[in-house]
Amino acid sequence: MNLILMGLPGAGKGTQAEKIEAEYPIAHISTGDMFRAAMAAGTALGLKAKSYMDSGSLVPDEVTEAIVKERLGESDTDAGYMLDGFPRTIAQAEALEQITADLAKPVEAVINIAVEPEVLVDRLSGRFICKTCGATYHKLYHPTKVAGTCDRCGGHEFFQRDDDKPETVKNRLKVNIEMNTPLLDFYKSRNLLFEVNGDQDIDLVFAEIEKILKAIAK
Ligand code: ADP
Ligand code: AMP
Repeated sequence: MNLILMGLPGAGKGTQAEKIEAEYPIAHISTGDMFRAAMAAGTALGLKAKSYMDSGSLVPDEVTEAIVKERLGESDTDAGYMLDGFPRTIAQAEALEQITADLAKPVEAVINIAVEPEVLVDRLSGRFICKTCGATYHKLYHPTKVAGTCDRCGGHEFFQRDDDKPETVKNRLKVNIEMNTPLLDFYKSRNLLFEVNGDQDIDLVFAEIEKILKAIAK
């Protein structure tokens, strides 16, 4: 099963990817996570990405396309993959078509998690993430079951993303909103687009996604 999870920053891509991963053995590929890991490790890629991420702009297409190409070439994607946060531009979508055609791993469905932008500032300012396993929580909408302990791995250390600060969030949303409509049109024209309502309880969003996954698995 080869999927793209689409949606504006904060729409719930990472949250739903965790739920999909728990039920289907497919690789979760988040370009944002890959850039953050490279930044934390201080690699050349991390240094390149840092200035863009700090201002909420997009990392240049050629840099992002190269890491996706390499990642999709790894064998854990043979059973399927879900891309989260990629593609974000038409150029990236076109590059992805070429990459997946060369690898004979074409995209089978694009799931757009639709949420109005006004809701997202609030979501992003309350987001916190487990330092050990990367599980995503929210102060109000998705707290850990036991305060201070990660539900998934039992870790006790959490962080908030630097780019979730209100100043950066505004620019991230602006950049992504501009790109979103042409990308949705791109996948609609290829009959790959499915839309779910992301402005409802996390489990209800997942129920809508599962219906789609069951339909395409047939
Ligand atoms: P994305 O990966 O699309 O940027 P996340 O999955 O990290 O978004 O979700 C952003 C924030 O919103 C997180 O704090 C998450 O816990 C919370 N969240 C995700 N889905 C929902 C939802 N359906 N309702 C309320 N909050 C949500
Ligand atoms: P995300 O974790 O998806 O919210 O991404 C965080 C940041 O990483 C973005 O604001 C961009 O700076 C960068 N980034 C992630 N994915 C991409 C992409 N597909 N193209 C360009 N930049 C990206």
